Amino acid sequence: MEPRSAPPSPHAEDTPDGMAARCTDVVKTYRTATEPVTALDRVTLGIPRARVTVVVGPSGAGKSSLLRLLGCIDRPDSGSVHVGGQRVDELRARGRRRLRRRQVSYLFQRPGDNLLPYLGAIEQVRLAAAMRGATVDGDEVQDLLGRLGLGHRGAHRPAELSGGEQQRLAVACSVVGSPTLVVADEPTAELDTAAAERVLAAMSDLAASGVAFVVSSHDPRVMAVADGTVHLDHGRVVP
Ligand code: ADP
Repeated sequence: MEPRSAPPSPHAEDTPDGMAARCTDVVKTYRTATEPVTALDRVTLGIPRARVTVVVGPSGAGKSSLLRLLGCIDRPDSGSVHVGGQRVDELRARGRRRLRRRQVSYLFQRPGDNLLPYLGAIEQVRLAAAMRGATVDGDEVQDLLGRLGLGHRGAHRPAELSGGEQQRLAVACSVVGSPTLVVADEPTAELDTAAAERVLAAMSDLAASGVAFVVSSHDPRVMAVADGTVHLDHGRVVP
């Protein structure tokens, strides 16, 4: 892996300790018909900017639960979650929605779930920027698509792209407009090795220009691009 340059200087939207996101003493319990299930048990961690942080652990370890908190979809039962300068756990659904729209991108496993079927690639990127309150000119969109190997696919709709191309387009949409954090839940699970490697290389390249990625995976290919790894087991961070 290429050596990384020093992280960029603090961002206006970083947490007080300079992280893009942070969980402190987070507990998340689900109520079920039989007994409560503790998915996260006093989890403390930071997600730095300009890095790809991979969350690994066996099935049921709490990876998706953690990503849903960082993605501002859920709130913890106790403890705090910061994304940028904001405390997510203190926000109601509307505040979390606003934070999510402006500052957080969430990438799903299935490429098609990340895209609108009736828009071409350029329009998808422009719409993602507009949703974040940003405008991008044609050259910026073309440059971003070019970096992701999609320069010749600007007018193509998702159905006209391969799974790997769709997921790279989703990565383009996830970083445009400078969100604080990109959360990706098993983003390569549905891709073959070559396609997965291109998606991961794209993430790594874009992280180097300042984006914080947090990615869950079982996949050793994802581990290979990680700048940092968080191991979860039974809801706890393990060394
Ligand atoms: P992972 O992503 O590592 O597989 P999850 O975060 O999905 O782990 O799940 C952690 C634990 O929480 C598991 O025991 C799982 O069964 C439980 N769990 C997750 N979501 C729910 C839910 N909505 N209701 C009840 N239990 C849940």
